[in-house]
Amino acid sequence: MLGTMMDVPLLLSSILRHAEAYHSDGEVVSATVEGGLHRYTYGELSKRTKKLANALARMGLEPGDRVGTLAWNGYRHMELYFGVSGSGFVCHTINPRLFREQIAYIIHNAADSVLFFDLTFLPIVEELAGQLKDLKAIVAMTDEAHMPKSEALPGLLCYETLIADEPDSFEWPAFDENTASSLCYTSGTTGDPKGVLYSHRSCVLHAMAITMPDAFGFSAADVIAPIVPMFHVNAWGLPFVGAMVGAKLVLPGAHLDGASLYHLFEGEKVSFTAGVPTVWLGLLDWMDTHGRSFTSLKRVVIGGSATPPIMISRFHNMGVKVRHAWGMTETSPVGLAAALKPKHEALEPEAKLALECKQGRPLFGMEFRVAGADGQQVARDGKSFGAMMVRGPWVAASYFNTPHSPAHEEMPGWFNTGDVVTQDEDGFIQIVDRTKDVVKSGGEWISSIELENIAQAHPAIQEAAIVAKPDARWGERPVLVVVLKPGASFTRADMRAHYEGKIAKWTIPDDVVIVPELPHTATGKLSKKAVRQIILEQISGNGPEAFMS
Ligand code: AMP
Repeated sequence: MLGTMMDVPLLLSSILRHAEAYHSDGEVVSATVEGGLHRYTYGELSKRTKKLANALARMGLEPGDRVGTLAWNGYRHMELYFGVSGSGFVCHTINPRLFREQIAYIIHNAADSVLFFDLTFLPIVEELAGQLKDLKAIVAMTDEAHMPKSEALPGLLCYETLIADEPDSFEWPAFDENTASSLCYTSGTTGDPKGVLYSHRSCVLHAMAITMPDAFGFSAADVIAPIVPMFHVNAWGLPFVGAMVGAKLVLPGAHLDGASLYHLFEGEKVSFTAGVPTVWLGLLDWMDTHGRSFTSLKRVVIGGSATPPIMISRFHNMGVKVRHAWGMTETSPVGLAAALKPKHEALEPEAKLALECKQGRPLFGMEFRVAGADGQQVARDGKSFGAMMVRGPWVAASYFNTPHSPAHEEMPGWFNTGDVVTQDEDGFIQIVDRTKDVVKSGGEWISSIELENIAQAHPAIQEAAIVAKPDARWGERPVLVVVLKPGASFTRADMRAHYEGKIAKWTIPDDVVIVPELPHTATGKLSKKAVRQIILEQISGNGPEAFMS
């Protein structure tokens, strides 16, 4: 017997309609590519999004057609988020930090019909112009005063001109909530990037889930600054949440350096922010150097890669609460958040910090399974390792336009995250490593993340990576690769002394390699693949300027 409740689809346009009806005076502030801050309200956002929807309707797109964006976090990107998906098309956010060939591959694999881009990315679009000839339109997200003259892009349209004469009324169509809304490609560290095609239902449910208090916990009283880019997994859902709860949104545009973020946060009284550890390192270092403190920031979510304990402590010392979270492009992204339970308040500060450093416990809706080598669930003792499998309404069941996916085939109905984890009795999951990054020494696994976190706490070290070096006897041995703070020195003896007593002796890295900078992927994560290459070059004597002490 079916329930007798209304069958109202969960659509992204319903979030915008809600914001228009009940939060029309809520502010959206954007640092613009053209310079300066742009301010308007959810009411104005809604009106301009309807103008955009009318313009899209005239372009001859079919339902489900992909509309690409190459853009920073800003108000026009927000309009595209809601306008494209609300019309029944798919908003395909392209990561501009990927290699040109990957961007070309992605646009081709997605078969985008239209491309919108921020002026910063004109050189990318011009370079790819020859491969974009089938597109119905290419639109520069700017006004006439800032329109570039581009010989490579003769029919280039201007966003403001495109929407200027359109009516600001539009009836958002109703359709099945499982209709595709947004498309985001994985960063492609192994093989070609793969498209994850979100649905209206998955995005709305994910936005509601992260709003819960033990996830990120949002209300209309918040001032939310999504620093994680809108081209990376829908900025972790924050643009949807902002409109859903009516919080003021502060969008940083292209300005992600410590000084710019600090001034934006202070100027706009930001209370909540979210992003990857690399960005926070820049902000905290800048604040230390300039003797600044926060006056409005209360909470920060850190995710995307492991958060070093020292970073959590630095935020705590500034009066900011940290919530460590885990996610993937394939999981929309949030699946875990490290919210302590009331009983944990009694823990000693060190034990509390250790728990906060874990990736977190499952959000309702997400199911996790930690599978040992035999495929069976391992003990929930916080020690036994296994491969982390996940399923839920905002987890990808397959990839867009890519039929074969080993991650989905190993255990039908589950997605293999590629993370090796432990889980404790309260459900807290800790990533021990990526399956491919773990160091296998003499048949035992060494967690590269654990060693990196310890290294990161050394006062001479700016950034640290642990990678496996091939070893005739042990198979692999860990090597520490570091960037030092200006003027600092660090030897192998310093390294041994620092690790001594903190971990088992045999897991202490064999060597330390000092490099001027560490390679990062397009999404700002440490590229272990590239670091391994540095080590191999060191061993073969062809290394760049670096030394093994
Ligand atoms: P992506 O799809 O590019 O967001 O990458 C997802 C991967 O990033 C995950 O499988 C994890 O290995 C890693 N990751 C995400 N969040 C965290 C975190 N809080 N701690 C450690 N690794 C993380």
